[in-house]
Amino acid sequence: MPRFPTPVQSRLPGVGTTIFTVMSRLAAECGAINLSQGFPDFSADPRLFELVSRHMRAGENQYAPMAGTAALREAIAAKSEGLYGTRYDPEHEVTITAGGTQAIFTAVTALVRPGDEVIVLEPVYDSYVPAVELAGGRAVRASLSPRGYRPDWAAIRTLVTPRTRMILLNSPHNPTGSVLDRPDLDALADLVRGTGIVIVSDEVYEHIVFDGVRHESVSRHPELADRSFVVGSFGKTFHVTGWKVGWALAPRELMAEFRKVHQFVVFTVNTPVQLALAEFLADPTHWLGLGAFYQRKRDLFRQGLRTSRLDPLPCAGTYFQLASYARLSDEPDVVLAERLTREAGVACIPVSAFHADGRQDRVLRFCFAKSDETLHRACDRLARV
Ligand code: GLN
Repeated sequence: MPRFPTPVQSRLPGVGTTIFTVMSRLAAECGAINLSQGFPDFSADPRLFELVSRHMRAGENQYAPMAGTAALREAIAAKSEGLYGTRYDPEHEVTITAGGTQAIFTAVTALVRPGDEVIVLEPVYDSYVPAVELAGGRAVRASLSPRGYRPDWAAIRTLVTPRTRMILLNSPHNPTGSVLDRPDLDALADLVRGTGIVIVSDEVYEHIVFDGVRHESVSRHPELADRSFVVGSFGKTFHVTGWKVGWALAPRELMAEFRKVHQFVVFTVNTPVQLALAEFLADPTHWLGLGAFYQRKRDLFRQGLRTSRLDPLPCAGTYFQLASYARLSDEPDVVLAERLTREAGVACIPVSAFHADGRQDRVLRFCFAKSDETLHRACDRLARV
C-alpha cells in the first residue's frame, strides 16, 4: 500500500539514480576496487586540514557572505587572471558554489526558460540534461565522434535555432578525456557571434591536462568570456571532492541572474573551508604540478592495461581513462561493468550512461586518481579477465 495517496507526477520521469552512485554502491557491496566514481583514494595536503581547523577554532563558523568570502573570491579572480588573462571583478563576477554541479545547475536555472533549447555534446556528463529539463528547456544533442571525441562545429551550427539559449561545454571532458583547443574556441565564437547564446563552460579539470598541452579556458578568449559562465572546482584540484566547493565566473550581467537563484538554492557555502581554500590557493605550487602528477598516473594505468584485453583510448586530460573492450566481450557496457565489479573486483563506469539512446561504443571509463598501489592491483585483476 503506497504511503503517498496518488501517483507522483515525476518532473524527471526518465531519470534513475546517477551511475556514479550506482557503481560506487556496487563496488562497496562487492568489496571491489572502485575506479568508477571520480575521486582520489589518497589524502589531500594536511596543511589544508590545519587551515580549516584554525578558522573553525577562530570562530569563523557563521554564514559567509551570499556570494562567498571576499578572500576566496579575490584569490580565484587573481588565479584566473594570472592564468587566462581575463579579470573578473570579485565583487560582482565571482561566486563560490557548493561544487561544480551546483554552479552548472544554477546557471541553467537562471538563464533557461521553458521552450529554450540548450546544445550539449554527447557523451554528456549526466547532470546537464536533467538541469535543462527541470528548467523547462530542451536538450539538443550533438555527437562527439568516438574517434577522438572532437566537436564537429559545422554539425553543431546546423542545430542552432532562434530558440537556442545556451551551449554547455566541458573541457577537459568527462568522460572522454578530450580537450578543446584554440581553433575549437574560435569556431565556437564564430557560431555564437551576433546571437544571445550563453556558454556554460565546465572546466573543473582545468589543471589536469597532459603532454604539454595548455588548457584553453573560454576565459582566455575575450569574445567568449563576455558571454560565458566558467565553472571551476576545488575538489578536483586539491583532492577534496567531498568538500563540495567550487565557483562560477561570469560577466556582471549574467552573474546578477546567477546570484538571484544561488541565494535560494544554497544561499552560501561552508565558511571555514572557504577561508582555508583562499589561503591555500594563494600559493601556485599547490596546484601547478597537478597535470604532471596525474600524467604519471595516467601512464602507469595505461601501461598496466597492456597485458589485458582492454585497449586504452587517447587521454589528453581529466583523471579518467577510457578503454575499449571490443577484444574482450560483446556484452553491453552496463552488463560488463557489473560483471567486472562482481567477478574481477574492479568497478568502472559504462560510457553508455552518458548517451540518451544508450549507444554502445564498447567503452568503459576508469578513474586513475588512485594510489599507485591501487592502480597496480586493479591492473593485475583486469589482466586476468
Ligand atoms: N564527477 C564525478 C565523476 O565523473 C562524479 C561526481 C558525482 O558522483 N556526482 O565520476
